[in-house]
Amino acid sequence: MSTVLVTGGCGYIGSHTVVELLLRGDDVVVVDNLSNSSLESIKRVETITERVPHFIEVDILDRAELRCVFDKYRPDSVVHFAGLKAVGESVSKPLSYYQNNVAGTANLCEVMAEHGVFSLVFSSSATVYGDPETLPLREDAPLGATNPYGRSKLFVEEMLRDLQISDPRWRIALLRYFNPIGAHPSGMIGEDPRGIPNNLFPFITQVAVGRREKLAIFGDDYPTPDGTGVRDYIHVVDLALGHLKALDYLAEKEGILTCNLGTGQGYSVLDMVRSFERVNGVTIPYDIVPRRPGDIASCWADPSVAAEQLDWKATRSLDDMCTDGWRWQQQNHIGYLP
Ligand code: NAD
Ligand code: UDP
Repeated sequence: MSTVLVTGGCGYIGSHTVVELLLRGDDVVVVDNLSNSSLESIKRVETITERVPHFIEVDILDRAELRCVFDKYRPDSVVHFAGLKAVGESVSKPLSYYQNNVAGTANLCEVMAEHGVFSLVFSSSATVYGDPETLPLREDAPLGATNPYGRSKLFVEEMLRDLQISDPRWRIALLRYFNPIGAHPSGMIGEDPRGIPNNLFPFITQVAVGRREKLAIFGDDYPTPDGTGVRDYIHVVDLALGHLKALDYLAEKEGILTCNLGTGQGYSVLDMVRSFERVNGVTIPYDIVPRRPGDIASCWADPSVAAEQLDWKATRSLDDMCTDGWRWQQQNHIGYLP
């Protein structure tokens, strides 16, 4: 058993990862400034697991507060989710993104090193691949983000590579997530976007539950089988389990690992709508509208590095993602709000 510090542990992917860490017996210290989440998620995590993680409301930009957390809880390793993630907002507020995502990670690493903690799992993103030249995407594909959010992930990856070269005590996993969707099968925790969802899946669940009238499908003239965009959707519980495997890997192996976390399977927007309608017996009205600027046609992972190095594979299907995501939305019409 070890003590894992989870930054951003109240958020969507963080809360699901905290559940799996607690269920396997690790002690968990959650650090979050609640800028995009609520404490209710931690209460739900406690109900699911019948265990209690430590929670400290801290901004990772606050080095003094972070030091106090490390002094008190002495974590063995860190899983680092905290950061801002809205692509559109990153274009209008780039400095917030570089502050929170890049400077925040630099702060965290400094405090980790001061406390002799050198094991770090970092949330990167498939967005670092930009517009793919070939599919499926392997980790050695050319990199090139197209917006400040993506560049902040790319910069952090480079920074962490430099850090590991500077001091080989560092053991780092850079996990490039594809498109996480769905929710915990209990329906108690899930994605709770503030305002109008930017992403496809929460938009669909909000249409299904009556919070929005219609889905707008951004373009049906892409070079894909049905003309709509294709992505590699991954169940958030599979993604969470990938972090546990990454921690196990770092306990055994030195160096830095860059690894895709995806299923290897691409689905179109229309595939998603049809699956959601079929498994849940609901109708999702939609209009086809012009393409969203900056969107790519298709993106899916080659997940073989994760299989070989982490002994991890996604096992949950698109139908599981649709069923579990719908259960969460039905049980929580307006998310975590009472
Ligand atoms: P989220 O917004 O639900 O969770 C992030 C959490 O970090 C939130 O609880 C927020 O309050 C907290 N936070 C933000 N800035 C902070 C700061 N300065 N100090 C302390 N806490 C802070 O997002 P998520 O979907 O769970 O994503 C987690 C990570 O995974 C992010 O780094 C994101 O960029 C990355 N990622 C997400 C996706 C996705 O589609 N959800 C895809 C690829 C990568
Ligand atoms: N999409 C859509 N309508 C929406 C949101 C997304 O048609 O309201 C499409 C989008 O064009 C892309 C796919 O759904 O083809 C996934 O979009 P999302 O924003 O979820 O993920 P990303 O584009 O960041 O991979």
